[in-house]
Amino acid sequence: MLGLTVHKGYLFYGKDRKREEVFINEELRDETIWLSTRLHEMFKSGKTPKAVISSKCKSCSLEAHCRPKSAGRGKSVKRYISQMIKENLSDEETP
Ligand code: SF4
Repeated sequence: MLGLTVHKGYLFYGKDRKREEVFINEELRDETIWLSTRLHEMFKSGKTPKAVISSKCKSCSLEAHCRPKSAGRGKSVKRYISQMIKENLSDEETP
């Protein structure tokens, strides 16, 4: 775009207030371009990929939005709503 090659950048972690230096080589540049392309394709498709629950979720800043336990692999909106209705109906029946 500007005809410049950037050789390093920084990641800033707000919670920890730490800055990490990242060296940008051709491999990282190619991977970033590929991931960016994939992201645009995913966005255009309108389909949200299924969450892959891992130990990383505990420290992920997106956990509140991602909700990996309720929207993870094998979960469906239909099943979730059915389960919620069933639980609420059984709560109403209990004196
Ligand atoms: S919370 Fe969601 S986005 Fe974050 S690591 Fe887990 S699956 Fe990935």
